[in-house]
Formats: sequence, C-alpha cells, structure tokens
Amino acid sequence: MATVYREGDISLLGKVAIIGYGSQGHAHALNLKESGVDVSVGLRADSKSRAAAEAAGLRVGTAAEVSKDADLIALLVPDQTQPTVWENEVQPNIKPGAALLFAHGFNVHFGRIVAPADHDVIMVAPKGPGHIVRRIYTEGFGTPALFAVAQDASGNARAKAMGYAAGLGANRAGMLETTFTEETETDLFGEQAVLCGGTAELVRAGFETLVEAGYQPEIAYYECLHELKLIVDLMYEGGLDYMRYSISDTAEFGDLTRGKRIIDQHVRDNMKTVLSEIREGEFAKQWIEDMNNGEKTLNELRAEAKGQKLEEVGKTLRALMQR
Ligand code: NAD
Ligand code: MG
Repeated sequence: MATVYREGDISLLGKVAIIGYGSQGHAHALNLKESGVDVSVGLRADSKSRAAAEAAGLRVGTAAEVSKDADLIALLVPDQTQPTVWENEVQPNIKPGAALLFAHGFNVHFGRIVAPADHDVIMVAPKGPGHIVRRIYTEGFGTPALFAVAQDASGNARAKAMGYAAGLGANRAGMLETTFTEETETDLFGEQAVLCGGTAELVRAGFETLVEAGYQPEIAYYECLHELKLIVDLMYEGGLDYMRYSISDTAEFGDLTRGKRIIDQHVRDNMKTVLSEIREGEFAKQWIEDMNNGEKTLNELRAEAKGQKLEEVGKTLRALMQR
C-alpha cells in the first residue's frame, strides 16, 4: 500500500503567486488564502477574472508583476499557454531560488518548460475539478491530491509541495506522492480511456443503440446518461461492491453476465494501445502539433461532437429537472 500523507507545513511557502484564475487557479488562490497563506494572483491586464479576484479580497497584478516577489509561483494557466506565460512573464521576473509549481505534469514531463537549476520544480495535482476543490474546502474538508518533485534545488522541495497541498485542504482527504511521469501518464490515460473519452462514447453508444432500435430517445437518455450519475454516486460512496448491493438482483445478474462482453478483450487491447501512445509521446506530439496549428483539429472535433441527438434531448429534459 502506498503511504497516504495527512500533513504539510504551510509556513514553508512564503509569498505565493497564483498565475491564472480559472478552474484550478481560483480554487488554489482562495483555499490557500483562507488557510493563512500570503497569496497574490497574476492575470492579464484585460482579464475578465480581475473583478472576481479583487472582490474575493485577493491582491491582483499581471503575471509579470506578481512573479517578482513570490517565493512560490503556481502556473495555473491552461497547459497550451503555460510555455508562453513562463517565457514571457514568469521567467524574466522570477526571484533566484523561488519555487515553480504545476497542477499537472504535462509541460515539464514533455520538456516544454525547463526551469533553471536553482528553482524547485514541484507539482500538486488535486484529484478533482477546480470548482469541486473549492466547494469541498468551503464545506470544511478537502479534495485528495498528488504531489511530486521534478527538481529539488532548495533541498526542501518535497516539504513545500506537501505544505501547498495541505493549504489546499488535501491533507484532510489524503495526499499521495508521485512523480511527474506517473502523474502525467496516468492522468492522460484516465481522461482518455475512462473518465472522459471512454465514458462519453459508452453513453453515446448505449443511447444510439436504443434509439436505432426504435425506442423513445427520452427514455434512452434517462437510461444511459441521467442514471449514470446515480450509479457512479454509489460507486464513489462505497466502490463497485456497494453499487452492486444497492441495485436489484436482476440488474446485478445482467451486470455480471453482460459487462465483460461489452468491455471485452478488444477494449482492453485498445486501452493498452492508447496507453503506449501516451508513454511514447505520440499523443503529446499530436496535441502539441494541433496547438501550434491554432487547435484546428480540436475545434473541428468539438463542432462535430455538438448538436448530436443526445444533446438535443438532454437539453429539454434537464430544463424540466431544474428545481
Ligand atoms: P482554465 O482554462 O480553467 O483557466 C486558466 C486561466 O488562465 C483562465 O482564467 C485564463 O483567463 C487564464 N489565462 C490564460 N492565458 C493567460 C495569460 N497569458 N496570462 C494570465 N492568465 C491567463 O485552466 P485549468 O483547467 O484550471 O488548468 C490549469 C492547470 O491545472 C493545467 O495545468 C491543468 O492541466 C491543471 N489541472 C486542471 C484541472 C481542472 O479541474 N480543470 C484538474 C487538475 C489539473
Ligand atoms: Mg485528471
């Protein structure tokens, strides 16, 4: 069993600059501030988030300005933008010996950001979307997080990462140590094979199978998308065992006799291929090429994914479920 850490010393962090006030940025800035850390937020001069950050009582400047006196700089702009923000705003202003922190290992692991040797390079990756990281903290608890060290210049990099994770509230839920490589590869695999790619296509395939067979699309939507959340909630609370305890014996018999026919060896083989594309850098190469090409492929695929039958039906049914 891996060690689950429950402690970290926030007094090691000094002045923290959070660059970006998006999903992770706003959660990190507010959680750290309320944990007693000295936080400022770096935004573009014309950023729409400026008013929100100021209203929350945070000190706001440009990324360049807040980088100047920070002891720890958290780069929480999108992965596509990080190299430019690092080169143009952070690197020219970072104090000697200041630590650089990431919430995902992509840019360091794939060599797109290489910090000079006198800076700690660390990661704290909450295992949840930013808005949940914030909400759970306001409820008095925390979201679990991974922490890692890529470069230990101060001799104290690991303790700083743990202190930062604790400032986010992760110590309450559990902190696991990892490497930039492990976090990057497992995170990419999870979102591609299971959480986003796999689940979205499973839902779509189930929905379309029912609709093509002549069933009402509204019923197919409830069955394949709406109820998925209720089932996942049970898994989240008590694992697969608890989900199976809660469903009917009929559902359980169907699950145990049919599930492995749906997610069969062929699907597992595809998962292995997707994982090896991640490990060999093939996925990163393709994504970086698309970034350099104005995200043309991403935008085309986005447009294609929108406006499906499932989405039309869902829009109507979700409006009825507004309380
Ligand atoms: P985001 O897209 O939600 O927010 C990015 C913010 O950066 C926005 O407020 C944007 O206005 C700002 N920004 C963009 N360009 C900027 C610039 N040039 N200067 C200053 N600000 C700029 O990003 P995110 O999803 O929070 O991702 C941040 C990091 O966190 C990434 O490394 C991501 O992989 C990681 N991460 C995200 C999640 C998540 O829940 N979204 C979960 C774990 C890790
Ligand atoms: Mg993830």
